[in-house]
Amino acid sequence: MRLVVDLNRCQGYAQCAFLAPDVFALHGAEALMYDPQPDDAERPQVLRAAHACPVRAITVEDESLTPATGRAGGPRVG
Ligand code: SF4
Repeated sequence: MRLVVDLNRCQGYAQCAFLAPDVFALHGAEALMYDPQPDDAERPQVLRAAHACPVRAITVEDESLTPATGRAGGPRVG
């Protein structure tokens, strides 16, 4: 899975680092470090972190739902 954090939005609330400490970490007061391609085993924690972010700075891109061919190969969402 892939994820992107909009660091212009991120306010350093650290909800993500609390919920998925293997993926997100705060260095100092507001410098967020994160793994942009975490293992799929981290998915539940990453999704929880994305939902918990007060400013919705975390975007999760699920490769199985957006294949390069343009046809959905995985289950539908929504
Ligand atoms: S929860 Fe959101 S605002 Fe807080 S550190 Fe993580 S990405 Fe930034």
